[in-house]
Amino acid sequence: MPKPPFPKPKVPGVLKGMGITLRTAKETVFPNGPIPQPSKGAVTVQYPHDADLPADRARGVISLKEDNCTACMLCARECPDWCIYIEGHKTLAPPRREGGKPRKVNALDRFDIDFSLCMYCGICVEVCPFEALFWSPEYEYSELKIADLLHDKSRLGQWFETVPDFEPLESGSEVKVKKVPR
Ligand code: SF4
Ligand code: SF4
Repeated sequence: MPKPPFPKPKVPGVLKGMGITLRTAKETVFPNGPIPQPSKGAVTVQYPHDADLPADRARGVISLKEDNCTACMLCARECPDWCIYIEGHKTLAPPRREGGKPRKVNALDRFDIDFSLCMYCGICVEVCPFEALFWSPEYEYSELKIADLLHDKSRLGQWFETVPDFEPLESGSEVKVKKVPR
């Protein structure tokens, strides 16, 4: 009967992990040889003394273009955290054509997002059919009081100033038709 092959010694996972940690520590503290240069090898940004600029499309904060919002409530209904609060009322807007009837539209009274609950999933921005919500890369809005993380429509409107311009479309791609109703 053939003998079973001699089993290879197994390196326990914890030793492998320690090896990786030591190698990374060496690359961080001694990036250029035996003289320690932790500031060169370290990848940690010393915030707030230094700040890394986030990518243009980073999900920093949600901004509202109030003129485009019809208070349709779609974003509030789709938000998995229920952290969008909208109130509005019906009002009459001038007719589109001369001699036409005045139109019934929704006027926005309240549009708040509670960023202490938001999980930055982006669903509200995706589902808005009227191009009223946009991501801004701004992220410096921490607060001492958690209640101050509720941003009202005027604050959300201010964030709109920080939304980067859209990149030009690639050649051959289709332009999205805007559905802004007024
Ligand atoms: S990003 Fe997600 S969690 Fe935050 S408000 Fe929008 S839908 Fe809600
Ligand atoms: S932001 Fe968009 S989805 Fe939300 S209520 Fe306004 S129009 Fe509707």
